[in-house]
Amino acid sequence: MNVLEERILKDGIVKEGNVLKVDSFLNHQMDIHLFGEMGKEFKSRFADKPINKILTIEASGIGIACIVAQQFDVPVVFAKKSQSINLEGEMYVAEVESFTHKCKNNVIVAQKFLSPEDHVLIIDDFLANGCALQGLIRIVQAAGATVEGIGIAIEKGFQSGGRIIRNLGFQLESLAVIEKMNAQTGEIVFREQ
Ligand code: 5GP
Repeated sequence: MNVLEERILKDGIVKEGNVLKVDSFLNHQMDIHLFGEMGKEFKSRFADKPINKILTIEASGIGIACIVAQQFDVPVVFAKKSQSINLEGEMYVAEVESFTHKCKNNVIVAQKFLSPEDHVLIIDDFLANGCALQGLIRIVQAAGATVEGIGIAIEKGFQSGGRIIRNLGFQLESLAVIEKMNAQTGEIVFREQ
């Protein structure tokens, strides 16, 4: 069992509706030491890839992506979920349905930050049905850039996203894959990796 899986068992809370709450260490309060370990693990899993940019989505992907980016010594771009008055110039836009908020958002990246020369590692905190990832993949492809891989902290393996993304042929690496979880008992079972 890796450090993330151990931490999920210790501090993760299973909620109704297939939601795992990890806000004490991952996506509200953030354990930077844990993130450091995760960053090293992503670096080793994508060591052979010519990654020159990390792409994530606001808000909870950003912290992890920054620590991963330190390992690769490359910049992070995060997709924005709303049109800010500060966004200038041409944009790549993809529609994404939010698993946790049950609404549709446009996710937006300024075209000047992604170009055909870019070799991108996509990073996010969770993978559920894969909508967020598919939006990010569409944005990379619209830029003519290359998706070199996808790194996820927690994949809920009982939802469809992982299968969809792997079937598309991407190297998808999830540090913890939850096979099943139970809101009544609090039980969490990981997939053997
Ligand atoms: P997807 O697009 O794969 O259905 O959902 C991915 C996004 O939904 C992630 O970026 C994450 O923010 C959020 N999400 C999905 N499932 C969970 C969950 O069980 N717990 C938390 N905290 N966030 C989740």
